[in-house]
Amino acid sequence: MIVDLWDGALADRAEALALNEITYRRLHLGARRVAARLQTLGLAAGDRICIYSENRLGFVYAFLAALRLGAIAVPANVLYRRNDLAHLLRDARPAIVIVSPSVVAEFTQAQVHCRSVDISQIEAWADDETIHPIPVLSRQADEIALIVYTSGTTGRSKGAMLSHGALAAIAAQLISTWRWQADDTLLLSLPLFHIHGLVAGLTCALAAGARTVLHERFDAQRVLATFESERVSMFFGVPTMYARLLEHAGSRTYAPLRLFVCGSAALSPAIHRAFYERFGSSILERYGATEFGFALGNRYGGPRIAGSVGIPFPGVRVRVVAPGGMPLPPGETGELLVAGPNLFSGYWERPEATAAALIVDETGTSWYRSGDLAHYDTEHDVYRIVGRAKELIITGGFNVYPREVEEAIEAWSNVRACAVVGRPDDLRGEVPVAFLEAAPFETAGLLADLRSRLASFKIPKEFYILDALPRNAMGKVDKPALRARLSAP
Ligand code: AMP
Repeated sequence: MIVDLWDGALADRAEALALNEITYRRLHLGARRVAARLQTLGLAAGDRICIYSENRLGFVYAFLAALRLGAIAVPANVLYRRNDLAHLLRDARPAIVIVSPSVVAEFTQAQVHCRSVDISQIEAWADDETIHPIPVLSRQADEIALIVYTSGTTGRSKGAMLSHGALAAIAAQLISTWRWQADDTLLLSLPLFHIHGLVAGLTCALAAGARTVLHERFDAQRVLATFESERVSMFFGVPTMYARLLEHAGSRTYAPLRLFVCGSAALSPAIHRAFYERFGSSILERYGATEFGFALGNRYGGPRIAGSVGIPFPGVRVRVVAPGGMPLPPGETGELLVAGPNLFSGYWERPEATAAALIVDETGTSWYRSGDLAHYDTEHDVYRIVGRAKELIITGGFNVYPREVEEAIEAWSNVRACAVVGRPDDLRGEVPVAFLEAAPFETAGLLADLRSRLASFKIPKEFYILDALPRNAMGKVDKPALRARLSAP
């Protein structure tokens, strides 16, 4: 399964660089030594190994070692403070927590009794020639490799379980679709605690035999410099990263990379266009979630249509359904369901939440209910995501899909980003209001422009201008926080 794919790349590319300046041989040997050391501490198949750290070498060794041991890697968001971390630790009950010194105080204050080891110790074990590495063993497709906690609010975050088979399926899907080659270099500055960085990035690169240049965190200036200094061919980011790259690129033009991929939140067509003009490359937008990896992506060979998420990856099936689960014809908007070998194995110790998230059809196929609204665009033959079902605004009986309004506003050049949410209204149930990330400006011109482009019920009744929209680590706008502002006295 995924370990076999990694070993295939290792066999072909032992002396090639895998991660920064580390070769494939050294990386996997190091991981097998770490696995051996963890084994002597009593860790065994099925045990959870929590990794609470920023991106660094020890994170990669710990992840690879866990999977080789048959243990389950549980990355914890390094931005978590003690309460969120305590929830994760109580829920996952890891046998060990690998902690970075940068967050050790939070770990201590979470006050959950749990054995821990400093991440620098992992790095030292990887290079310790006195440690006898564990043998190379295959794992079964249905063994759990990874539990990733979904970005819920405190206390409700659930652990999505991904099997060795699902990770192998995701790697096969992304490697073939994105024409990944062994001579590719991926610049990875996405956090490894999220599936975007850990699976689309690291896991796939190691299965493709490519090189990964890992940055501790995203820093636009450093990323731009690294594109050139390391002859990078692929970059994966979230929309806010692309916005920052554009800001920092100034008036310079850059040699195009082979592939820029964006996901985790909707990319505004305005950024898509501006990026093409400056970087000579059209960003490939893809749609994914922790529970299924990646489902849809723009065609590699184009056209890469701004505002769309293309077509299913090989082996992935999607359906757009009405609230009762009935499939809708192309063109109609409904909830997107996803099926395929990439699907998660359920939420850790939450059978009810798992059952609620899945629809099993008459053929026995499990479909994951994404909670996202989508439609098939029959003109361009692509899917479009129009927002979370929970974020749909119903005003006077009419549906307003926030993404449509946000895109219309983001086309306005001085608006960096926009979030449209519903405000309770006595007369209409809800009305749309817009939060704009922009320098203060007079919104009369914007309003007039929207009136010429959108149906009247879709036009926000109020505009709030903010320096920055509240966002999580993956650049997703925190809409509940915006709604809370509206109801605050
Ligand atoms: P996560 O599990 O944190 O990766 O979040 C998954 C959610 O991110 C999806 O259910 C979508 O709501 C959102 N998402 C991911 N990719 C996209 C995209 N390309 N466009 C719009 N929303 C996206």
